[in-house]
Amino acid sequence: MRRRLAAGNWKMNGTAASLSEVEALLDAHVSPSVEILLCPPATLISAMAAVKGQHPLMIGGQDCHAEAKGAHTGDIAAAQLADAGATHVIVGHSERRTNHGETDETVAAKARAAHGAGLVAVICLGETLEEREGGRTLEVVGRQLDASVPDGATGQNTVIAYEPVWAIGTGLTPTNGQIGEVHEFLRSRLSARFGAEAAHVRLLYGGSVKPSNAAEIFGIPDVDGALVGGASLKAADFSPIIEALE
Ligand code: PGA
Repeated sequence: MRRRLAAGNWKMNGTAASLSEVEALLDAHVSPSVEILLCPPATLISAMAAVKGQHPLMIGGQDCHAEAKGAHTGDIAAAQLADAGATHVIVGHSERRTNHGETDETVAAKARAAHGAGLVAVICLGETLEEREGGRTLEVVGRQLDASVPDGATGQNTVIAYEPVWAIGTGLTPTNGQIGEVHEFLRSRLSARFGAEAAHVRLLYGGSVKPSNAAEIFGIPDVDGALVGGASLKAADFSPIIEALE
């Protein structure tokens, strides 16, 4: 019922030369049975769209502004991402929440802007190590889910990525049981709010997903795919993760 999704977040990495990795990825997955999304820096969106041509690869931004246009130097509106060739946008990544002071309310406003521009919002949430060790994981992700996901979210316009902050870029991953517990919790919390529609919303796991752990993570109930950072930069790493999902 939910199509599995392999999403790559290039963060602040990549130049035009990196598009050769996209070509290699497309060659390796000519007609993928899962959805593949790459979120390059905004500077590469239109070039990546040109490289992909008719391939079903989807392209996303990494952030958008909550407003449609105006005096916001350095920011990008959701409609501008769409204009460049994006169909998705990541909002509320922990690096944005931490480095740019984004609150759940900011994230919800950005997700609403994404929806308004016809983009799928990939809404990120996750606990810090301190919160995990303090036994507050479900309380924290529950609050983030309630406040970061706007009304009107559906399986069509919203993907949720559970990314424990302490697992991002560290090589550390939660146990299967910990991932499963959070995903089950998020699914039931979505059901309480959105009813039957919650069953259509993809829940991705993110944080140090790599070829060696992907298959195990994808075997956890309610994990519909992954949001992959470092291992999405090279086709040689991302391709086996996609295969593990197929
Ligand atoms: P990582 O990043 O795969 O490099 O840990 C994941 C993310 O931040 O989306």
